[in-house]
Amino acid sequence: METQLPKRFIDKVDFTGSCWIWMASKVGGRYGQYRYKGKMGLSHRFSWEHFNGTIPPEMRVLHKCDVPSCVNPLHLFLGTNQDNTDDMMEKGRHVNTIKKGEEALNVKLSQRQVDEIRETYQRRARNEFSTIGLAKKFGVSNQQISRIINNKRWTG
Ligand SMILES: [Zn+2]
Repeated sequence: METQLPKRFIDKVDFTGSCWIWMASKVGGRYGQYRYKGKMGLSHRFSWEHFNGTIPPEMRVLHKCDVPSCVNPLHLFLGTNQDNTDDMMEKGRHVNTIKKGEEALNVKLSQRQVDEIRETYQRRARNEFSTIGLAKKFGVSNQQISRIINNKRWTG
C-alpha cells in the first residue's frame, strides 16, 4: 500500500510499525510537514487525500491511533472539530480498558501521556502511583512504564 505514495514522501517515513511514523520535519514536533499542491501542508492530510480524495473544507483528518506523526491512511479518519474533542475523550476512557499483557507492550501513548507518567512517577513514586499503578491507569505494561521512566528519549 505504501508503495503507491510518491517516493519523496516514502523517503520520510518509517514503515516498520503499524503506525507509519513521519521522520522529517514536524509542526510543533507533532504533525509531519509535507509540501504538496505547491504549498506546505501536513503529511497525514496528504496521506489521507492521496488514498481517499479531497478533504471537504470543514473536515479535519484525525488519528485513530493517537499518534500525531502517524501517516498510515488506515489510522486516519475524517471528522469535525467536535469529533476531535469527542474522540479524545473517548480515547481517555478507552485507555483504561486496553488489552493486557503481551499486546499491551506496544500500546502507543501520546507525548502528553508520556510526560504525565514521568511527572506522576516523580511526584508520587512508591505511592499508589507505583509503576504498576501507572501501567493500570494508562492501560500499558509495567515494562513499558519502566522504559518511559528510565529512558528520557522515549517518545511513545
Ligand atoms: Zn497510526
